[in-house]
Amino acid sequence: MTSERPNLLGMPPAELTELLGGHFEARGQPRYRAAQVREWVFGNTARSFDEMTNLPARERAALAEAFRFQEPETDIVSLSSDGTAKHLWKLHDGEVVESVLIPSGSRLTLCISSQAGCALRCKFCATGWSGFARQLSAAAIVGQYRASVRWARENDRGAVTNVVFMGMGEPLANRKAVMPALSILNGGYGLGARRITVSTVGVIPGIEALARRREQFRLALSLHAPVSELRAELIPLEKRYPLDQLMRALEAFNRKGGRRITFEYTMIRGVNDDPALLAPLAGLARRVQAFVNLIPFNPIPYVDWKPSLRGRVNEFRDGLEDGGVPVAVREPRGRDIDAACGQLRARRQQSA
Ligand code: SAH
Repeated sequence: MTSERPNLLGMPPAELTELLGGHFEARGQPRYRAAQVREWVFGNTARSFDEMTNLPARERAALAEAFRFQEPETDIVSLSSDGTAKHLWKLHDGEVVESVLIPSGSRLTLCISSQAGCALRCKFCATGWSGFARQLSAAAIVGQYRASVRWARENDRGAVTNVVFMGMGEPLANRKAVMPALSILNGGYGLGARRITVSTVGVIPGIEALARRREQFRLALSLHAPVSELRAELIPLEKRYPLDQLMRALEAFNRKGGRRITFEYTMIRGVNDDPALLAPLAGLARRVQAFVNLIPFNPIPYVDWKPSLRGRVNEFRDGLEDGGVPVAVREPRGRDIDAACGQLRARRQQSA
């Protein structure tokens, strides 16, 4: 059965070496064959076994029989006037997920998806409203990266410098695939751990699992409200993993050292932008030395909410700064192509 052949794109470096070593040994091939294939995989040059031209045709055919080497297919690429490029990828079962390339100064950040849809139903998030379809495999996660890197190179966008798990889905609710994907991006493709950010709405066991890792991956917490009652109105998961417990998990993460925590705070007019929330927000940020990103809410079709007024966003920024908290205001990018937060897929479902 073809679907059971392991996809080499989803193998962490050590497992890949072992798997290929066993494969070639059983075929009486020299050991260096495994290293050759590894180079084609992580060197990001081949798209199929056929392109692995330093292997004999017979060995390429045997690889294709034993394994898959399969990236998601491009469904649509949308280009924004601000330089943002969004890919909609079609997976082998027809599910679609999206990733976004965001240039900013000398950086090129790739925002990738970890699930098709999302089960957590945050009220402000279009992906949550579109429902959960399925988990992505490590190969489908890494495949978005691999194909995006090549697209960026071929389209003169330069090299991808950073990866953020801020596309569709909750990465820490798919640890089975996200944990190996982190190993592959870091250990296989050589992307520095500090250039990889896992964004979570607060899955405590996942934060603990990340803290146990040796590599210094960055963590973003989608906070959106500094008090539990209000947070629970926006984020159903708050009832399961309440803020006080979440903060304790973040403190433990912080104690590991060398890893930065960011708070994401989407500012929604009249919902979570009361100046009275500034002091508790600053208090939480100081507890874990978090950097705060203030993001004007990006309107979605499902709720009648608006972004906070500019003056209020600036008031939050200044208030946090005065309170000794590092802060930035993030402008939504790629608005003209629905680049934010599951919107293109959601729109597609609506029109389907
Ligand atoms: N599940 C993860 C990652 C996906 S969301 C998480 O929640 O962190 C990536 C970021 O986009 C999160 O900070 C999320 O809160 C934010 N976001 C979602 N919908 C948004 C909207 N309509 N406007 C602005 N930010 C939004």
